[in-house]
Amino acid sequence: MKSRVTGLVLAGGRGTRMGRVDKGLQPFRGSTLVAHVLARLAPQVASVAINANRNLPQYQAMAGESPVLPDFLDGFAGPLAGLQIGLQFCPTELLLTAPCDSPFFPLDLAKRLHTAMAAEGADLAMAVTMERDPEQPDGAPYRQPHPVFSLVKASVLPQLDAYLETGARRMEGFYKSLRVAEVLFDDSAAFGNINTLEELHRHDRVALPIAVPTPHAPAAPAPSRATDSDPAALAVTDAQRLICERVTAVEATETLPLLNALYRALAADIISPINVPAYDNSAMDGYALRGADLPADGAAPVRFKNIGIAYAGHPFTQAPQQHQCIRIMTGASIPPGCDSVLPQELAAAIDGDNVTIAANAIRAGANLRRAGEDLQQGSVAIAAGKLLRPADLGLIASLGISQVTVRRKLKVAFFSTGDELRSLGEKLEPGCVYDSNRYTLFGMLQRLGCDVIDMGVVRDDPQALEAALREAAKNADAIITSGGVSEGAADYTRDIMALLGDVAFWKLAMRPGRPLAFGKVQTEQDSAWLFGLPGNPVAVMVSFYLFARPALLRMMGAEATLQTVQARATEAIRKRPDRTEYQRGIVSSAADGTPQVRLTGAQGSGILSSMTEANCIVVLHHAQTNIAAGQMVDVLLFDGLT
Ligand code: AMP
Ligand code: MG
Repeated sequence: MKSRVTGLVLAGGRGTRMGRVDKGLQPFRGSTLVAHVLARLAPQVASVAINANRNLPQYQAMAGESPVLPDFLDGFAGPLAGLQIGLQFCPTELLLTAPCDSPFFPLDLAKRLHTAMAAEGADLAMAVTMERDPEQPDGAPYRQPHPVFSLVKASVLPQLDAYLETGARRMEGFYKSLRVAEVLFDDSAAFGNINTLEELHRHDRVALPIAVPTPHAPAAPAPSRATDSDPAALAVTDAQRLICERVTAVEATETLPLLNALYRALAADIISPINVPAYDNSAMDGYALRGADLPADGAAPVRFKNIGIAYAGHPFTQAPQQHQCIRIMTGASIPPGCDSVLPQELAAAIDGDNVTIAANAIRAGANLRRAGEDLQQGSVAIAAGKLLRPADLGLIASLGISQVTVRRKLKVAFFSTGDELRSLGEKLEPGCVYDSNRYTLFGMLQRLGCDVIDMGVVRDDPQALEAALREAAKNADAIITSGGVSEGAADYTRDIMALLGDVAFWKLAMRPGRPLAFGKVQTEQDSAWLFGLPGNPVAVMVSFYLFARPALLRMMGAEATLQTVQARATEAIRKRPDRTEYQRGIVSSAADGTPQVRLTGAQGSGILSSMTEANCIVVLHHAQTNIAAGQMVDVLLFDGLT
């Protein structure tokens, strides 16, 4: 099929709603809109062409060997004029059109349109989606045709010429004269187009389909030569929120023996089938008795007669008479009729079987653990979403439950990018470094309890990167890469990520770890969330903890928390406002026992030795300025990072 189709990018419009800029050439996610459209179209067709009416040299530079075709008709006559020149040029039997302002269309567009065209014997197959009027959310859905996404037989050219000859220019009008097959696509966002510069900038900053207000980040486009104080940089908290809003928990669950469930995310609430404790029992070693027999306030001591003994696991089942008591051990069931326990050390005197109790030694009802005091039968013992820790296993066991339903393990593929990287065991040539990120990422993922797929180092080569991302999307729920995402990076990583999915490249207001790519890698069959972390060894760890970890936990079905504690800074710390800074620190106990923290010294983002020396990260928040010695700061303890 592919060999019979030529792709045509429609970029010949006036860009009226974008202020008459040349839409196709607008910068978008590291390249231009038209480059994104070409990248989606090219894999679906035998060859491509671009229809453009301005800036032809720039289009030609992008098109390479492929032709750039200006309209045959004068005066920006609209998409049909583009279709006309496309059909005149078309060297194949079929032409597939896609507009330059829709960079998200499906990668199986050609295939699906072709199938319908063949099945219905049509001249033209067109994409349609079901939409609802946003003004009337309850209104009936309607079919929205997308005539600019059409597969057309080259043989309709004479009909098109005749139609244009009449002066008519509307696509819908022309299509009426053809046999049209409509193909319904589910994902209407995929056919969304970008009409205004404001929309363009919003999409550029944020991966589809969410459009979000970013309080710390004005809507202005990111300047190309950004500095650290770039006002368009995205605040850490906004990036975290954007990521967490998009990812969802894997649905599949499995039921495991309790002992295999450590650190797995509970998929359903654990409901207590029993009361815990199941029966009233003693909290002390002492004497069980009837509270009514205790000597009244101011009364003389009273003598009780010990009539037996109750051990844990060996209840004493006979009810005492007045002024009788039962020797009882901690955890033993309270004998019938008793409601209080006198701790043995509070007995005024013990003489054989006689126990003397003074007034006010205890109150009636004292030292009892009541049935259901810990957990009531039928109540939620542990809520779904909990990552099961040792105490949780214990609690579940205390309920007599031997199996638990947890979410399936998350599959995470990871690889390092960069031509300078050498794997362990390889010779280190001049200008090369050993790949250390592979090991830190492995450790951090392993600690989270993911199934890790280690893909090693991927060369900085478009084919190798594309193959790696496709392979990762096939096998994993999430992909973590390191390197190649910074703005100046000479690597192909950014281009290939943008090509294979809906990936946004963020500049974050943070240090270390400014660049971050996040989005969905989508192939014809598979998809996976992508976290493109920076390359620097410290930046990779900080970005993993701040962005990937919470998202992965969420995908695992677990409640994600990143707990900070406060410690006193032993020294002054310089801090620039308007960005979040993370510094490696060592927390210890001060002489008065309160926590204090000092920095580990050199804080360069490539200096991993100070990361191993550290036991925490000092978090200096977005709005904070210089810290004086003695001030309290937030720290993130490494040991808390599951
Ligand atoms: P990049 O973001 O690709 O420009 O990389 C930034 C810096 O991190 C460069 O100095 C790289 O050599 C270094 N780097 C990238 N990936 C790794 C890795 N896997 N292991 C160690 N260093 C790396
Ligand atoms: Mg690199």
